[in-house]
Amino acid sequence: MKLTVISSSSDGNSYILENDQEAIIIECGVRFERIMAALDYNLGKVCCCLVTHEHKDHCFSVKDVLKASITVAATIGTIRQMGIPPTHHRIKQIEAGKLYEFGGFRVIPFKIEHDVAEPVGFLINHAETGNVLFVTDTYLVPNTFRDLHNIIIEANFSQDIINKRNELGLIQDWRQARIYKSHMSVETCLTTLKANDLSKVNNIVLIHLSDGNSHAEMFKQMVSEATGKSVHIAEPGLIIENFNKQPF
Ligand SMILES: [Zn+2]
Ligand SMILES: [Zn+2]
Repeated sequence: MKLTVISSSSDGNSYILENDQEAIIIECGVRFERIMAALDYNLGKVCCCLVTHEHKDHCFSVKDVLKASITVAATIGTIRQMGIPPTHHRIKQIEAGKLYEFGGFRVIPFKIEHDVAEPVGFLINHAETGNVLFVTDTYLVPNTFRDLHNIIIEANFSQDIINKRNELGLIQDWRQARIYKSHMSVETCLTTLKANDLSKVNNIVLIHLSDGNSHAEMFKQMVSEATGKSVHIAEPGLIIENFNKQPF
């Protein structure tokens, strides 16, 4: 299975997991043209588009995705906030804690903490990828997970960098208050990772890094030193060919 990062920041988030036969889109917070191009215009193999929440950087092109006859899976709170009728024939309403199947992908949404109606993260299972954790736009992850094989997780900011910018008067207070209640620091990301058994994990992908309050190389080093795993920063265009259960 191949993971493609189309975009990963507050400007837009979209990721594709695919093999030759099937694909799943995770988030559609970019122009639909970019999603189609990343799929080589092979929309027929898309089983579903998962959306975590209604912020535009996660669902910008949801109406185009639906128009392309792709099923969009989201919670009822997110569906309403996106302005889509819940009865739309391509909408799949999902609930935290339940299991859903889209082609060979099995998905369990779980609750997260963000300043929106009903945000979720996803535990995605496929025979090739094993268990994939996808979590973004939350200041904490309340669950732990068993037998993870690949992890896609937010590392938005560093508490250290924020403290330093604060001393220099570079951050407005309201921004800081929001960030703490809506996004995950690299420090919390590390605590979250360590709370889980990582023995079977092959890839850790750090996503949704903030422009001013993050440092890609430092984050990558921190997480690889702490976990001993293969760590990637989700730059636009990143492709991980071996996003699998088996390391080789
Ligand atoms: Zn976001
Ligand atoms: Zn958000």
